[in-house]
Amino acid sequence: MLNLFEILSKSLDNGYDAESVYNILRDFFSKNFNTTDLEIFVINEKQNLLKNFSKDWIYSDENKIKDFDKKLILSKITENTYFLNEDYLYYILPKNCQPIGFLKIKSGNTVEIIEFLKTASYLISLKIQNILLAKSMQKNIDFHEIVRNIAKIIETQYELSYIIPLIGEMIDKFMTNHLIYIFIKNNEKFELTWPSKCSDNSIYSILENLPPKSEYKITNSEKTGFFPLISENKLIGCIVVKSMENKISNIEISYLEQLAKQSSATINRANVYAEILKHATLDALTGFYNRRQLEERIKQETAKAKRQKTPLCAIMIDIDFFKRINDIYGHAAGDLVLKTVSKTMRSQLREYDVAGRYGGEEFAVLLPFTKTEEAFMVAERLRKSVENTKIDLSKINHEIQNKIINVTISLGIYEFKYSDDCDSLLKEADKALYIAKESGRNKIVVRTDDKK
Ligand code: GH3
Ligand code: MG
Ligand code: MG
Repeated sequence: MLNLFEILSKSLDNGYDAESVYNILRDFFSKNFNTTDLEIFVINEKQNLLKNFSKDWIYSDENKIKDFDKKLILSKITENTYFLNEDYLYYILPKNCQPIGFLKIKSGNTVEIIEFLKTASYLISLKIQNILLAKSMQKNIDFHEIVRNIAKIIETQYELSYIIPLIGEMIDKFMTNHLIYIFIKNNEKFELTWPSKCSDNSIYSILENLPPKSEYKITNSEKTGFFPLISENKLIGCIVVKSMENKISNIEISYLEQLAKQSSATINRANVYAEILKHATLDALTGFYNRRQLEERIKQETAKAKRQKTPLCAIMIDIDFFKRINDIYGHAAGDLVLKTVSKTMRSQLREYDVAGRYGGEEFAVLLPFTKTEEAFMVAERLRKSVENTKIDLSKINHEIQNKIINVTISLGIYEFKYSDDCDSLLKEADKALYIAKESGRNKIVVRTDDKK
């Protein structure tokens, strides 16, 4: 018997989650006691439920357990360490004389199993307690991680259309088995901002009746929760969580309340930022002129060139396959690439050259007093220096160890004609850029008169 106990103890050492522990026990009992079926149930004290420990993470079987086993077991098991019912042996998993759950075992050598479990049940119970504890601790670690990440979004992004999906995806990953919706108030109406569809109409009617400064609200079924987003004492939106399985538990409510608070703070700061940036001239991420200011500078430079009869060139630049970087390494990596590429380019330009961020990963450079031939040389310097710049992604994500990448850019050049209006400068350069992309990327194309 001691030998079997040691074998069990050693095998359980290899169990690292519910499923593996379950598999170890099932195989152990089947091999040593000829059992044909084994299940593990854990009593969830707060909700007075039985959870199928072995299958909890595979599928939800709660109602079946409730109807049959719950009454039977909870009544009997508090008095005895085990009992038999039909073909099954039920044996409690003890913790300080109180059951934390039980094993349900079919067939096998029942008498021997009972004898064995007199000591082994403590060992099994301990292992299961450890797994449950580890699971709740991991959940807590994950929780703090996403609160931190939601707070961090603001370091690089301030557009709500960009921030809300990031928040939605983070909460969605954290709350498995739940549907997550984020609504933002627009003109006194709640609009679904993430994801793109919500077919549950009852959610809309509850939203419309949320009081202006409400706390969270849980529906009667206890399966849908409303967590208001509040900014400066005003209801600006709502995170709605709909459970696909169990009722929303108290711990989940407390997590969601804090997530809604953090999201509110992030959204609030984004709004403040956006307001400030409306009046700013520089793009926060790259330090280049922002789009609005770039357009201002184009007006000035084209007018100056016309007046002084000096040459002026524009280069439109777009990072090649940039979307892939976001997709593979995440948006923070994408942002680091944008920062690095813009810094590299700036180092290759003269002080009076104008560098602007035109859009996401598109830049425009204005080169006053510069003709096409010279602009081509500048473009080639930009292209080469970006191609040769190593970007170390482990700086922003420690999980990506020693990951060094480099990116390339495509460039389109256009030399301003005095007969042009100011809008054509970038338009024509962009046409050249398009050809550079079409013909293979990481190259420079000049827009010349004969192509017009
Ligand atoms: P191509 O070589 O044809 O230019 O391919 P691409 O993948 O670079 O082109 P596309 O225009 O499809 O992708 C641009 C991507 O840039 C899409 C968008 O998600 C991303 N993006 C735009 N602004 C930002 C930003 O501020 N930060 C990050 N990380 N990504 C951004
Ligand atoms: Mg692009
Ligand atoms: Mg691109």
